[in-house]
Amino acid sequence: MATKNEERIKRLTETHNLPREDFKQLLSTLTDDEAEILYAAARRVREAVYGKAVYLRGLIEFTNVCKNNCYYCGIRRDNARISRYRLDDETILDCCDQGYDLDFRTFVLQGGEDPAYSDARICNLVREIKARHPDCAVTLSIGEKSEASYRAYFEAGADRYLLRHETANPEHYRMLHPPELSGENRKRCLKTLKAIGYQVGAGMMVGSPGQTLDYLVDDLMFMRELQPEMIGIGPFIPQKDTPFGTQAQGSLEMTLHLLAIIRLMQPDVLLPATTALGTIDPIGREKGILAGANVVMPNLSPTSVRGKYLLYDGKICTGDEAAECRRCMALRIERTGYYVAVDRGDHIAVQQS
Ligand code: SAM
Repeated sequence: MATKNEERIKRLTETHNLPREDFKQLLSTLTDDEAEILYAAARRVREAVYGKAVYLRGLIEFTNVCKNNCYYCGIRRDNARISRYRLDDETILDCCDQGYDLDFRTFVLQGGEDPAYSDARICNLVREIKARHPDCAVTLSIGEKSEASYRAYFEAGADRYLLRHETANPEHYRMLHPPELSGENRKRCLKTLKAIGYQVGAGMMVGSPGQTLDYLVDDLMFMRELQPEMIGIGPFIPQKDTPFGTQAQGSLEMTLHLLAIIRLMQPDVLLPATTALGTIDPIGREKGILAGANVVMPNLSPTSVRGKYLLYDGKICTGDEAAECRRCMALRIERTGYYVAVDRGDHIAVQQS
């Protein structure tokens, strides 16, 4: 006879949703055997939409200067212990050229909210990347901006925007951020990005300080409403020079359970197996792929600055050349039975039954 959780997994697969209480039960009582059933269901759904392809995103962490002071983040404004850097435009473009030769067809420009990169400068960078590599997608992940800025980047050619909502619960948002940042504005930015026409990525850290099961269910409900094309989730990992430096890290199992649940809720979502997942477990990213993830984001930043984009302690791949990361990633993916696609890896919209 099927267990209650097996019934929940079946219902989630068929209807892409569950009542709140069932999500909570699923997240709090899943056994190892049931987790395997959950992952298998997530793999079937992901393969029905995306086959066995895993999409590559080349991550360029172009600045670790940030005007914000998020309590969890190693590049927060008040962290005086990290050495700050900014990549110049030529270096950023070189990273893309090198990435293109390594089969990357998406470039993700990520950074702190750094006023040195004006809208005009970001637009020029986007235009130049698109001119050099017209078959590639450009993703921006540079935080909260005005609608006018988001429109300008989009008109310059940016295709996608990653902005994790961090937590959908306003009270929890206040626990993670200083008063000048609000969950309301974060959500407004996401809605604006969607309305402009970006493929949008939301998401949160798993196990961030103060997070409860109720808050996680709030996250699932928020994403169900927003229907982002991408969802980035990874474990919270403490960084010693932040206010949360002595907090516990997020759990591998909870992250994998959530990846699989999100895949079943949104079969067509682009779901990365994150670097943070690979940091808390030597084969965390492979486990993520086997729980329904279908994207990986190897680093294309110059090795000279890699170690300085320290959002959290122990971050992997900080010493490797881009070519080495690419090779290593292909081998890791192949070992899971999937393959790395040389493709922009756009979102495939599937009508939900
Ligand atoms: N400034 C941009 C923004 O706010 O979206 C992009 C850079 S921000 C550093 C990228 C993501 O890193 C955040 O959305 C957050 O979820 C994640 N992050 C920051 N500190 C982290 C930590 N200690 N553990 C895990 N993830 C973390």
